[in-house]
Amino acid sequence: MREWGVHMTETEEDIIRTGMEEIKRTSEVFGDDAGAFRLEGRWVVITNDMFVQSTDMIPEMNFQDAGFKAVTANVSDLVAMGSKPAYFGFSIGLPESDADRARLCFRGISEAMDFYGMKLISADTNSANELIIDGIAVGMAEKLLLRKNAKVGEVVCVTGDLGRSLSALLISLKGLEADEKMKKKLFEKILKPRARIEVVDGLSKISNCAIDVSDGLAKELRAISKASGCRIVVDVENIPVSEEVREFCELNSLDPAEIAMNSGEEYEIVFTTSKDALDGVEFDFTVIGEVTKGEGVWMRTDSELKRIRDLSWRHFSDKWVI
Ligand SMILES: [Mg+2]
Repeated sequence: MREWGVHMTETEEDIIRTGMEEIKRTSEVFGDDAGAFRLEGRWVVITNDMFVQSTDMIPEMNFQDAGFKAVTANVSDLVAMGSKPAYFGFSIGLPESDADRARLCFRGISEAMDFYGMKLISADTNSANELIIDGIAVGMAEKLLLRKNAKVGEVVCVTGDLGRSLSALLISLKGLEADEKMKKKLFEKILKPRARIEVVDGLSKISNCAIDVSDGLAKELRAISKASGCRIVVDVENIPVSEEVREFCELNSLDPAEIAMNSGEEYEIVFTTSKDALDGVEFDFTVIGEVTKGEGVWMRTDSELKRIRDLSWRHFSDKWVI
């Protein structure tokens, strides 16, 4: 069975958690989308994220897209903290024989840094058996948006639409059905994702709690619920799903809500805020639920309220073995 992206086996997760517990000297803010420390009245926000060819690169992706995506994954974490991207550094590992692909990869990184308005702060190269881009991004923030800041009574919102990335993965790696028109739209998100830098200013005015959708909405909401000590209730029919995802799900007898809740690498931003603060917000978002007393993540339809399981990519891998 192929393991995809950030989803690891329990044993790996345990090893990493135990290993991280060994390291006691952490910064003022640690364990959120990014770390942060105070400097002259502002927050300096720092995050790192690694892109690995064998687990993060589907056959449809080229090396330029891979370079861009490695930057996007880092920038998205800065955005989730309420921070604007400023600097990018990276270590890159590439097979020595692959000069053309290396050039494409550097072009993708450069293109992304232009797009996000970042300057290069440090870089290192080495030879490796496959493409590895270990990025580090630095940004500044006036205030931080933290997972622990959700308050009972707030609404839960998300930018953009969800579900296209997992749909594309299922087509690419499992051979699920889709017509060409559908494929074009579904693959757009996983091949060329863009971090939501345009929301940072507006978001910081109305919210204290945000997270980016890198592992799937269900998992991100669970992180907020756990850190804030509250229950998140999602209204199933409000989850923003594109027409292409609905058509794809119908064609393959899948539940669009299940796909949307478990689709990773979306790089949309989930945030909580008071209902009143939503008037006058200038970026697009959808209200998907509310923060209530209790615990866990729950899905609400007209007829039922049920606690959700965290399915993740592994569930879909088990369901349709490659
Ligand atoms: Mg994140």
